[in-house]
Amino acid sequence: MQQAILPLSYLIGSVTFIIGLKMLSHPDSARKGNLVAAVGMTIAILATIFLYTDENGNKLGNYAWIFGGLIIGSIVGTLAAKKVQMTAMPEMVSLFNGMGGACAMLISIIEFKHHTSIPADLYEEAGASALKMIPGTLFITIIVGMVIGSVSFAGSIIAWGKLNGKIKDFSFNGQHIVNLLLLGVITALTVYVVAMRPDTTIMLFYTILVLSLLYGIMFVFPIGGADMPVVISLLNSFTGVAAAFGGFLYNNPVMLTGGILVGSAGTILTILMCKAMNRSLKNVLIGSFGGGAKAGPAGAKEQGNYKEISLNDTAVLMAYASKVMIIPGYGLAVAQAQHVCHELEKILQEKGVEVAYGIHPVAGRMPGHMNVLLAEADVPYEKLLEMEDANDQMGTTSVVMVLGANDVVNPAAKEDPGSPIYGMPILEVERAEHVIVNKRSMKPGYAGIENELFFRPKTSMLFGDAKKVLQDLVAELKQV
Ligand code: NDP
Repeated sequence: MQQAILPLSYLIGSVTFIIGLKMLSHPDSARKGNLVAAVGMTIAILATIFLYTDENGNKLGNYAWIFGGLIIGSIVGTLAAKKVQMTAMPEMVSLFNGMGGACAMLISIIEFKHHTSIPADLYEEAGASALKMIPGTLFITIIVGMVIGSVSFAGSIIAWGKLNGKIKDFSFNGQHIVNLLLLGVITALTVYVVAMRPDTTIMLFYTILVLSLLYGIMFVFPIGGADMPVVISLLNSFTGVAAAFGGFLYNNPVMLTGGILVGSAGTILTILMCKAMNRSLKNVLIGSFGGGAKAGPAGAKEQGNYKEISLNDTAVLMAYASKVMIIPGYGLAVAQAQHVCHELEKILQEKGVEVAYGIHPVAGRMPGHMNVLLAEADVPYEKLLEMEDANDQMGTTSVVMVLGANDVVNPAAKEDPGSPIYGMPILEVERAEHVIVNKRSMKPGYAGIENELFFRPKTSMLFGDAKKVLQDLVAELKQV
């Protein structure tokens, strides 16, 4: 009976994970999807703790340690998730992703120690070839899981620091060659150790561990501002793959399913992000794009004058427009102005204006950031246009309202081959009749570069915090 319950719990864990993932694809069902997957995983975890037995019939035991870890982890996780500001969410996601990588790394280290600590008499008998007793597939699983887990852990910690501004971009000439060399050494050592099992295997194992951590740091360090989204989704897929190796190691179907799904979803997202940024995956892996350190505003070329628009003029322009396209960006999340933004959309619609949102795939600070933000304010999903569709409709749009977005509408991506964001597709707002940009100052966005859009003839600047400006605009519109 017990033997049947354990696989059944794994089946429940796997199926609920798949259902949960599917439900995450729509804002209406996302919350429930998260819960469904979490319940399934809890069942699988509890079943493993209480029902799993090894080949000798021994149970896991160590309950104090297991539940101690579970309780501490749950408390820390709950507090962090409750306290986190919406704007700090991307950093937290990165940190949690790093923790997944660290788990995979630790599992490999523990399993390596477990398999190399054979009884002394056996060791004496087998001599230097004792290490050869570890089956090849098992050893490969341990070492590859360790490499991917460590890269993901170290890379995610650097990404976390970069997202919250604690770590600055860092690069030096020929860094991508160093990265390539590091990757080559890690691969060569791994193949050598697995194939030859020399006397120095234990030392080499820990050397590979240190080199992998170093590679994780080195490959994320030089990534230029606007290219971070690709790296984040790539690190996500690494953690999934590393967890899948853990599943192989323990022959645990639910860990395997979870890992493979996260790994493949992360890979698909990475490919989509690469397409969105017009970058190649090869360049991400050797950490050689983004143009290194940010181009500071001080180094920017002289841009000329910009013009401002008043709230009243903005309200009139919008009220008499046939079509308004709202372009949300990171600033909208900072201002927490999503609810009042939805209010603006409703008022305009009541006045017979067609309203849509143009969503850039890397707007905000995490994949899908704008979709999540607007879903929170119950903006109908159908109103969100993907970049290509939004650009198709730009020519027939009377007014584009850029709300706290900057890099994703920067024409330098199309026009300036020297720009770090050159080649990234953007929302081509200048094809609309009027462009109104709301932000607090003339400061640059995440990529740290000037935006010539603000100085172009069609553009008018509406300065102020997005929430306050939108509240005032809604009040003005009620009078028009
Ligand atoms: P940007 O970071 O380019 O610009 C945001 C703008 O919002 C700033 O220029 C800022 O100007 C303005 N802003 C900030 N606070 C407010 C406020 N309270 N009210 C009004 N405006 C405000 O954001 P985008 O969304 O355009 O682009 C995202 C950038 O982040 C890209 O470079 C992307 O590559 C990068 N990135 C994206 C990730 C993702 O997965 N989506 C992950 C990591 C990085 P001011 O200070 O003058 O108000």
